Amino acid sequence: YAIKADKTVDSVCPYCGVGCQLTYHVKDNEIVRVDGRDGPANHERLCVKGRYGFDYVKHPHRLTKPLIRKADAPKHAEFTVDPDKWSEIFREATWEEALDLAAKGLGKVRDTMGPNALAGFGSAKGSNEEAYLFQKLVRTGFGTNNVDHCTRLCHASSVAALLEGVGSGAVSNQVSDVEFAEVIFLIGSNPTANHPVAATWIKNAARNGAKLIVADPRRNDIARHAWRTLQFKADTDVALLNAMIYTILEENLCDQEFIRTRTSNFQALKENSKGFSPETMAPICGIPAETIREVARAYATSKGSMILWGMGISQHVHGTDNARCLIALTLMTGQIGKPGSGLHPLRGQNNVQGASDAGLIPMMFPDYQRVDNPEALSRFEKFWNRKLDPKPGLTVVEIMDAACDGRIKGMYVMGENPAMSDPNAHHAREGLAALDCLVVQDIFLTETAYLADIVLPASAWPEKTGSVTNTDRMVQMGRRALDMPGDARQDLWIIQQLANRLGCGWTYTGPESGVAQVYDEMRLAMNSIGGITWERLEEQSSVTYPCRTEHDPGQSVVFTEDFPTKDGRAKFVPADIIPANERPDGEYPFVLITGRQLEHWHTGSMTRRASVLDAIEPRAVASLHPLDLDALGARPGDTITVASRRGEIALAARADDGIPRQTVFIPFAYYEAAANRLTNPALDPFGKIAELKYCAVKVKKG
Ligand code: SF4
Repeated sequence: YAIKADKTVDSVCPYCGVGCQLTYHVKDNEIVRVDGRDGPANHERLCVKGRYGFDYVKHPHRLTKPLIRKADAPKHAEFTVDPDKWSEIFREATWEEALDLAAKGLGKVRDTMGPNALAGFGSAKGSNEEAYLFQKLVRTGFGTNNVDHCTRLCHASSVAALLEGVGSGAVSNQVSDVEFAEVIFLIGSNPTANHPVAATWIKNAARNGAKLIVADPRRNDIARHAWRTLQFKADTDVALLNAMIYTILEENLCDQEFIRTRTSNFQALKENSKGFSPETMAPICGIPAETIREVARAYATSKGSMILWGMGISQHVHGTDNARCLIALTLMTGQIGKPGSGLHPLRGQNNVQGASDAGLIPMMFPDYQRVDNPEALSRFEKFWNRKLDPKPGLTVVEIMDAACDGRIKGMYVMGENPAMSDPNAHHAREGLAALDCLVVQDIFLTETAYLADIVLPASAWPEKTGSVTNTDRMVQMGRRALDMPGDARQDLWIIQQLANRLGCGWTYTGPESGVAQVYDEMRLAMNSIGGITWERLEEQSSVTYPCRTEHDPGQSVVFTEDFPTKDGRAKFVPADIIPANERPDGEYPFVLITGRQLEHWHTGSMTRRASVLDAIEPRAVASLHPLDLDALGARPGDTITVASRRGEIALAARADDGIPRQTVFIPFAYYEAAANRLTNPALDPFGKIAELKYCAVKVKKG
């Protein structure tokens, strides 16, 4: 820390949904140090990404000029990106030329094939204002609801179940509420790697006496702090959770008053639970019946029990059913609507909550107002002064299918990398390659940008000002600390330039590409943040929604009186066992689970260009149980090949006795061994989320 900074700038971490507040120390337009601030979600704590994950901003691979694909540069799905050889594929252009060409290409598709031949992927790594403007451009400028983002691959099934059950897709209680809980039920989540600062709240609560129940097919780090660890068989979530529901019913541990006054459809849950006794489910899920009964009793009878979950619950073809069971557990025991209780789906990206709230999803306008609700439709038609499509649009995986079969011909992708993050990545790349016009706005030449016709160089998070909303429903202020390199531009400016070339006629003005004016418009469209003015955000840095008036402090615990449903009641929705779409067999005998590592974020475009993070985890790895490695004749560090029915990758083996036998865990951050070449695009029918946590693979040494 010998370098003395010229200035300090307060902002928020751009990585995970915890939303740690931080201070950049800046010298000569470089971040020389980052400190944790005393924000409500982190209390000065930061993990390794928040502390050391920023020098990607200055990486020589940064895009600094608009690029246009050369006429003789073919597009195909099999390629390896070499960012240093970009000039073999692209030529540099001025902003005028690139924006004109992008608008012409997208406009031609719209005008010749119709609005629904276009689609847009926005980003959960951008600000709320960018998400709002992006979906507004797709809905009003393109004329379609084909707009989505990575929430589809993250918690879409959790949100579907929450909207159906309790009327709101956001968390009921904030992570820090675990300090008031007597029982914490953590399922399908590895917070030490994925939400590291949130994990510290959970570990502290466990140290202070809360009974921590960790349920996950992998035994992960936080299990060391657990009162009980349920290492259940992958894909048997509903069996385990229904056995808990059965126990609570059979042993009369329900909160009858809560069920009578605040819920509906309880009888259906009771009927459905028959046949799910712990004794019957134990051999299916691999957890002894008495242990299931013990944790069910602890959960039901404590003064406060809180459930937190991750993508181990959501990324299945039965993801919505998994979440329905969790919701039923809280409702039947009255463990919701009070401190230290409730439901908390831990959001992945820093702004996946805010981007979804802002309407970056195909079936909802901002604030979850359905596009096929005539009242909401007419309200937004007046508000935006445009005729809007009353039909929900396609979701992420559906859009790629439509690109492959020619129904979608033009796309605008801002800050997402579907060529790496979509299931069955080869198929996604084929879809992207088949488009007549692909416009990609990013800070690096990602695998998706490599297939683009026009590449627009955008701003990194420390180069712009905007709000983001964390997993706790805290709307927080990110502030610009750095100038952009070369001719890169702020995303908000680029969206507006494209929109106006497509006839939107927007006139946002003011500093930072008119961000405060965009936010003010958003606030008018969204009751939930109506009381959070831009000035208030600038002053307080963090305000929790729902917050409807300027004097409302914001509500950290919701559902205290009623639920935001039509009748004010929450609804039980029973679930049956539905197996994974693709089970192991003689040819593909292993189960593949994909996920993240502490050091690398999603498709790795930022963290693999952050020197400290890359130095810690420089190489693509697959983790297996040591006995399985022995059986393959491989040692840690050896190259192994993992293949599914969709593709194969080679990477280094790592031994981990927390991984179940006949199972492989692979992070999806590595372009040279992209895990999503293997994954199964089968969808949950409600959330339309892909089964990224389970498919069949084979493994061999070499
Ligand atoms: Fe950033 Fe999440 Fe780490 Fe906090 S816990 S520093 S928000 S990555």
